[in-house]
Parts: sequence; structure tokens; C-alpha cells
Amino acid sequence: MQSIANIYPQLTVPKKVVVTMHQKPDADAMGSSLGLYHFLKQFNHEVTVISPTNWASFLSWMPGADKVLDFDRPHLKAKALEAIVGADWVFCLDFNTLSRTKNMEQALSDTQALRILIDHHQQPQVDMFSFGESNTEKSSTCEMIYDFIIASGHADKLNNEAAQCIYAGVMTDTGSFRFPITSAAVHRLIADLKNRGLNHSKIHEDLFDNFSENRLKFIGNVLLNRLVVFYEYNTALITIPQADLIKYDIKTGDTEGLVNYPLSIEGIKLATIIIDRGEERKLSFRSKGDFDVNEFARKYFSGGGHKNAAGGQSEKPLDEVAKDFEEAIKQNRDQLSTYNF
Ligand code: 5GP
Ligand code: MN
Repeated sequence: MQSIANIYPQLTVPKKVVVTMHQKPDADAMGSSLGLYHFLKQFNHEVTVISPTNWASFLSWMPGADKVLDFDRPHLKAKALEAIVGADWVFCLDFNTLSRTKNMEQALSDTQALRILIDHHQQPQVDMFSFGESNTEKSSTCEMIYDFIIASGHADKLNNEAAQCIYAGVMTDTGSFRFPITSAAVHRLIADLKNRGLNHSKIHEDLFDNFSENRLKFIGNVLLNRLVVFYEYNTALITIPQADLIKYDIKTGDTEGLVNYPLSIEGIKLATIIIDRGEERKLSFRSKGDFDVNEFARKYFSGGGHKNAAGGQSEKPLDEVAKDFEEAIKQNRDQLSTYNF
């Protein structure tokens, strides 16, 4: 994988470009993809943004979201495939292994286009990318898109649409600027976006104040009935049966952030949520301090991510996955039972 800097000189030559992200994109995946879209459009590239799946409705306010092709929707798939086959460049944002794009994996691995990686997760599949940057020290892929725009020498093309998308991803991936990864450079980036006229409080409202009454009642039920705390392991587990999702009419994105609630219990070092999505059991892990959930997710649940935030999946039934989880924390008893920050 060559340095991303090698593509800067080629930015001014119009190309066919695809920008894509991981399945079930979050604000960082969607924000970085659309941030890059608004930048590249200004060079007269033909840019198609593709998501492997649908996304939470609270991301749809982002400028350009209405143009994103959902690969999972049969009537959009042919158009998306055509764009991938005909592309000169395919930007892969906020993921680093092609399997994170689920049903798009084959098309991405078959394309003759140059694949370009911009991502902040651990253990990238570097042999799959011609150019790119992988940097786990970065708060978010949106921060990396900002850096890309500035370092390419085209700061004048960081318009308000791009700024809104970039802000959304930096803010959410840093937990509203609270996680340790939030550097001075992140705050300088935000100051720069503010100087360019960004209305940040509108973005907070668009992201966090757009849910249904049902979702709030669902969260009430989760905290009351679906949370178990294993104090001897400083661990908390939430398990959500599919019946709950149906009862409360839970949509994509409605469960995002739930995994963080148990971390507010004193002493809890590892929080996990297992959601029965029907086709699979999806796990999310969050930790504080030195417990590495990227390694944990990789070892036990075919997943990965970052040191303090990761995900995984299992094909087993929900109760068996919960048992597997209990077994896994037992195997990590030494690390979990001692509390190191
Ligand atoms: P979340 O729990 O919010 O879905 O994901 C937390 C972090 O782990 C995100 O950075 C996400 O990209 C990553 N992640 C989530 N699920 C998986 C997975 O199944 N495999 C890998 N490699 N990373 C994941
Ligand atoms: Mn991210």
C-alpha cells in the first residue's frame, strides 16, 4: 500500500470514483464518505457513494445522503455494481477488511479500480489496497478526511456541506470529545470548522433528538430487564431478544450507544451488548482502561475494531452466545477482576 500522498497530484484529473463504507454505517462512516464526496465533486470527478446496507434515519440529514446507493436494495444494486466495475478509484472508508462490506465484498475484490484506504481501525488488510492511510492514533475517519483535504493543498474546497459531515463523525467517534483519543489536533480541527461557519448545535439535535417515543420505552425496558452485572469480573452484559425489537418497532440505529450505559456503573470495565437481529447475533463491546476489546472480539466472536470499542457476531442462538460470553470473561478473569486505569 503506497502513501495516500501519492494521489494528491492526481486529484485535479477528473475520474470515475466510488466512495464506500462499512455495513450498517455509523456517523463516522457516512460522514467521512459524504465529506469526501463534497470535496471530490468540486474537481468534476464523477462520484458515487455506496453503502453496503441501509443506515439509521438519524444520519439522513447529512447533505448528499439522499444520493447514497444502498447496495442491499435490489433496485439500486445494479447501479452500484456498474459504478464499482467502471470506477478508476474506490475509496474504502472507516473499515479495513473487505468482509466488513458483507454482500459487496466480492464486487470490491473483483474490481480493476485502484482501492484506496482511509481508516483508523487496527490490523488493516494492506495487500488489498493500492494507496491509503491506516492510523489507529486518529479519533475518526472523519478526522482523516479533514487531514486529507488540508494535506492535499485544497483547504479552500472544504465547504460547509463537507464540514457538517466531518463534524458528525469526529463528534460521535470521540464520544462528544470525551474519549482519550481526543487530541489537541481534534480540537483545532473543530475550531477550524467553526471559523468556516459550522453550526454544531444543529448537528447535535439532528443526531440525538430525532428518535421515537418507542425507542425511549425500549431503553427503559432494556435497563430494567435485560441488563446483568458480573461484579466479580467488573463486567456488564445486555442481551436483547428479537421479540423486543419487534415489540418496540426498533429500527436500524435505535440500539446505537446502548452498550455505553453500563459503563456508568462504578467499577465497570467491560460492557457488552448482544442483539438478536434474526439473521445473526451482533455483539458490541466497550471497555475502559487496559482491557483490549479488539483482541477479545477477534478471539471469541469473529470481530474486531479498536482497543476500547469493538464488535463481532455469532450464528448461534442468543442464549448460547450469552453463555459463550460468560465463558470468555471467565477465561479473562485475571485481567478483568483487577482494575487498572
Ligand atoms: P459498534 O459496536 O459501534 O458496532 O462498533 C464498534 C467498533 O468496532 C467500530 O469501530 C466498528 O467499525 C468495529 N466493528 C463492529 N463490528 C465489527 C465486526 O464485526 N468486525 C470488525 N472487524 N469490526 C467491527
Ligand atoms: Mn470510525
